[in-house]
Amino acid sequence: MMTLPLVLNGSRCRFVIIGGGQVAERKVRSLVKAGADVTVIAPDVVPALQAFADQGVITLQQRPVATDEAYLPGQYVVLSTDCTDVNAAQAERARAAGALVCRSDAPDDNDFIFPAVVDRSPLTVAVSTSGATPALTRHVRERLEAFLPQDYSVLASWMETLRQKLRHEGTQQERAGFWRSWMRSQAPDQILARRPEVAQAITDDLLSGKSPDCGEVFLVGAGPGDPDLLTFRALRLIQSADVVFYDRLVGERIIELLPPKAEKFYVGKARSDHAVPQEGINQLLVDEALKGKRVLRLKGGDPFIFGRGGEEIEQLAEANVPFQVVPGITAASGCASYAGIPLTHRDHAQSVRFVTGHLRNGTCNLPWNELIHPSQTLVIYMGLVGLPYICEQLMAHGMSGDTPIALIEKGTLPDQKVHTGTLATMPGYVDGREIHAPTLTVVGSVVALHEKLRWRS
Ligand code: SAH
Repeated sequence: MMTLPLVLNGSRCRFVIIGGGQVAERKVRSLVKAGADVTVIAPDVVPALQAFADQGVITLQQRPVATDEAYLPGQYVVLSTDCTDVNAAQAERARAAGALVCRSDAPDDNDFIFPAVVDRSPLTVAVSTSGATPALTRHVRERLEAFLPQDYSVLASWMETLRQKLRHEGTQQERAGFWRSWMRSQAPDQILARRPEVAQAITDDLLSGKSPDCGEVFLVGAGPGDPDLLTFRALRLIQSADVVFYDRLVGERIIELLPPKAEKFYVGKARSDHAVPQEGINQLLVDEALKGKRVLRLKGGDPFIFGRGGEEIEQLAEANVPFQVVPGITAASGCASYAGIPLTHRDHAQSVRFVTGHLRNGTCNLPWNELIHPSQTLVIYMGLVGLPYICEQLMAHGMSGDTPIALIEKGTLPDQKVHTGTLATMPGYVDGREIHAPTLTVVGSVVALHEKLRWRS
């Protein structure tokens, strides 16, 4: 039989808890949060319950439950002693007095149960499998925890206040229509981005019948490739985009997460083949947002690390288009972790330096003398073509030819490969071998740890 979830007004309920162990503690914690009137009856209680009693938030009767314990109609009685006979006898007495009973030791003998709760007060989500499988309840709750931003508390409170203000405006049907448009507008997102004044302006426009004329651009880091490395925020924005512009580094498995109805545009960029030149991309973002769309600009790794994310939002700022930036796991972190190379292992490196190895006219202008520091790890982005030149320059400036170097090919993806060698040997190793982009180069003694710490094939 299905259980019926009801939401109780905690401050109007009286709970009696028989037993003072951990089960009682868990229930009392949620009851105290809900402001319920709680009495605990037990000869001994765990320290947390004692602390609640000392703070005066619960009443503690430190004694065994009486065989002729008196209950009141409408009370909620939680039986959590470790003696089934006691629980059964007390359940009978409580029910005879018109109280409702919850027993954790007898799943079939409950008038009410405690669901698992995702708390974003005033929003609460209760999960229950009617007592059938606590493991599944927990699993679903954990998924909801991950999916519902913590800031839904703020959102719910904001909406509650607005609802109070609108209480007497228009008919109920008109108010329902307003809320439907409001939920679909940018206002909720603006509240989550802590911009209540923008949310208010959108709300005012909606109330006065004006449709908001500007959309928003989300510059989102998609991480190094493995979709599991997306942030929750990135995933939510991916799922709600109207139009998406993505790079070559954003893999197919992430593109598959986009809503089918979203318009998708590939905007490059293989090394020298810019499908759309940077200026064109900047303008496209502005144009689409001005049409009122939710524009997702999806970039590999982190948008602010060798991602030209800064340039894209500069133009948005100039055009007064609202935007948000969502960080992603940059290739250095993702690839190093998946290759078992701790970039700043204490015995090896006190600092790590990210540089671009992109060649212009066959050379790259890097501060070589600073890069050869012995206790520093060097991470080189876009460094495959320039690899021989980079190795040569590092050695010419004094770095030992024995320094370990790793080339991480397609880091974090299912076909990731880690090639290791030394500054002296790597250029010869790469020569003539087929190595696929993207690749990241790591130089420094931390690379030697890969043999021991590798955990993926
Ligand atoms: N914004 C991105 C970097 C863009 S520059 C970030 O934060 O990761 C592009 C370079 O990043 C590539 O040439 C390569 O050096 C590196 N890169 C990105 N993803 C990679 C991956 N999955 N494996 C190896 N290198 C990667």
